[in-house]
Amino acid sequence: MNNTSQFHPDDTMLLEFSAGTLATAPSICVSAHLHFCSKCRAQLLRLDQVGSQLMSEAEPLELEEGTFDKVMANLDSSQQIPVKVDSQQNNYPFSVTKLLKNNLVSQTWKRLSSSVDVARFETGQEDFEVALHKICAGGKTPKHDHHGLEYTVVLKGSFSDENAVYREGDFLIRQPGDVHQPMGAQNGECICLSALSAPIKLTNPLGFLMKPWLRINPM
Ligand SMILES: [Zn+2]
Repeated sequence: MNNTSQFHPDDTMLLEFSAGTLATAPSICVSAHLHFCSKCRAQLLRLDQVGSQLMSEAEPLELEEGTFDKVMANLDSSQQIPVKVDSQQNNYPFSVTKLLKNNLVSQTWKRLSSSVDVARFETGQEDFEVALHKICAGGKTPKHDHHGLEYTVVLKGSFSDENAVYREGDFLIRQPGDVHQPMGAQNGECICLSALSAPIKLTNPLGFLMKPWLRINPM
């Protein structure tokens, strides 16, 4: 796949992903980005090699009996979703296709506002909500800031905010205090994967009358 991504996870995140220590929800987003981004796939390969080099240079330790089994059990429980470029019709990353198959809370899009639909995933993550958001062509989302971290990967189409245009594969992190107002591109709908660590807070002057963006009722 051609590399069109302009926005990438940083090396620390890739390193944690490589080591298997990144939390599941952001790992799903990194894995989705890797589907689109040959640059980060190459970087991950380098980091994997550094990791295995460090392992092979480490002093061998006397292991208690059963240690190997324990390590393997831990590896299994924190196993990363494999990065695989597949030829699905919708061209979604493998991690997303897998979620769509097994983890949708509801089989249909749920309307959040006049221009945004959501499909949530059940991932067993208490501190993160993982979902697809669909912004209709030219659709505006409410201006909002964030209480927690928000990871976003553009899967289809593009959207923009005050700072830039984000296209397929782009990986974004919003920090608490970041305020933005995403807008769908005029030429088609935009679908994003997101992992949110806390509910979004509206900054609209009437925000106090409204529910958090994610729980807004159909308009
Ligand atoms: Zn990248």
